[in-house]
Amino acid sequence: MINAPDARQGRDMMLLTADRIIAAEEMLSQADRDLGDGDHGLGMKRGMEAVKAKLAAMEPASVEEVFSAAGMAMMSSMGGASGALFGTVFRAGSKGLTGRPTLDSEGMALFLEAAVEGVRKRGGAEIGDKTMVDALAPAATAARESAALPLGEALSAIAAASEAGKEASRAMVAKFGRAKTLGEACIGFPDAGALSVTIILTAFRDYVSEAS
Ligand code: ADP
Ligand code: MG
Repeated sequence: MINAPDARQGRDMMLLTADRIIAAEEMLSQADRDLGDGDHGLGMKRGMEAVKAKLAAMEPASVEEVFSAAGMAMMSSMGGASGALFGTVFRAGSKGLTGRPTLDSEGMALFLEAAVEGVRKRGGAEIGDKTMVDALAPAATAARESAALPLGEALSAIAAASEAGKEASRAMVAKFGRAKTLGEACIGFPDAGALSVTIILTAFRDYVSEAS
């Protein structure tokens, strides 16, 4: 169990996350096929391959630097709306960690709050619009509520909140992205971006609880 990943552990956590997203390519594309154009898995895979290449070539001094580099790698490799938005999750989120050498539970809350704020500003979506915000915003709320707990416990609550938010997105009618044109036909399917958020936060949880 790790209670506050340092820069090197933060990089390892991000590398595990990248591998989980890459392994989920088909699942993510299928989710996007149900609601959009089916390219979400490919875009995320491309972004996470760029993240891996970038992290392999650097010696980060902080978790903030790891997340910032990851966000920039995603923005410059993925393109499109989701490249900018997922890049923003990490890039804007990293700014919440300024001055913190490690990632403790309070830092996780600051990271997720800054990430949600950044995505809201950039994309304009709110809870209920059937986007990644439906997984990310409840995760940030759970992080704030568990900021005084050990990181492993906090991340269990955070991952569960994102999963619940992703599941709740099934019942929603999309107001953004390509799914918007489907209207009521999108009911029943979870949002692909919310699924990516859940995979990312579950990887964080697993890294912290399984790594020695
Ligand atoms: P594209 O829509 O360009 O095909 P992707 O398929 O990679 O891009 O990503 C689609 C995901 O992007 C959606 O499932 C949704 O979660 C997210 N998304 C789209 N528009 C917005 C927005 N305005 N705010 C937040 N998330 C958004
Ligand atoms: Mg798409």
